[in-house]
Amino acid sequence: MEKHGSSPKRSPSLIAETLKSIFTVLVVAFAVATLYTAAKPIGLFSGEFSARLAEAVKSKETPDEGWPTATPRPKPSIGIVVGHWGDNKDPGAVCPDGLTELSINQEVATLLQQRLIAAGFGVDMLKEFDENLAGYQALALISIHADSCTYINDAATGFKVAESRYNPRPERTARMVACLRNRYAKATGLSEHQSITADMTDYHAFDEISEETPAVIIEIGFMNLDRQILTQNQALIAKGIADGVLCYTRNESITNDQ
Ligand SMILES: [Zn+2]
Repeated sequence: MEKHGSSPKRSPSLIAETLKSIFTVLVVAFAVATLYTAAKPIGLFSGEFSARLAEAVKSKETPDEGWPTATPRPKPSIGIVVGHWGDNKDPGAVCPDGLTELSINQEVATLLQQRLIAAGFGVDMLKEFDENLAGYQALALISIHADSCTYINDAATGFKVAESRYNPRPERTARMVACLRNRYAKATGLSEHQSITADMTDYHAFDEISEETPAVIIEIGFMNLDRQILTQNQALIAKGIADGVLCYTRNESITNDQ
């Protein structure tokens, strides 16, 4: 009776002890589970993040909005001035049949832009007197123009590349000029026309951009005698300029692979 009677008496404390033990076990289990699950996603997350980062770097694509971290590193950029674009005072050369220098410059600049983007660069397409030219900073700036459509003489064929007469970065720009001369001639088969004028060496954009930005102007050919390549093989023209820019940015050898 006492035993029996004591049972109900001891029972509540036994239940309490048991509940306490169960509770302790649950608390420990919960704590362990929390630690485990908390640790696990971080590991998974960073693994997944690294994989995505590696993939994005590999494909050179701009990361999408799903990226968990802020501000990917900006791409190095190259500026292209599309000769006469937006210039009402000087719309550029025009042939008797209506072919315009501007249309050639635009076509070549667009193809060049595609090539440079494919090579991993950011590209700024600039008008002739673009407001962004003021203090413009980039790996390089190239202005694209074409020469007169008027027949001058049989020697009025070929291209020209010039840098500023007052170049504050002579060694870097000289290298870019050398790269462009070499690669452009190689890609297009055109030779260099030795007639660089003050229009080129005193080109307005040279004075507007940052002194840190090496800049050149290229006359891609004469619209009269070089009309065929300028209108029918602009891809080759763009390749020649792109190869020249890449030769410069990648510090490639100029003479060895001629
Ligand atoms: Zn022009």
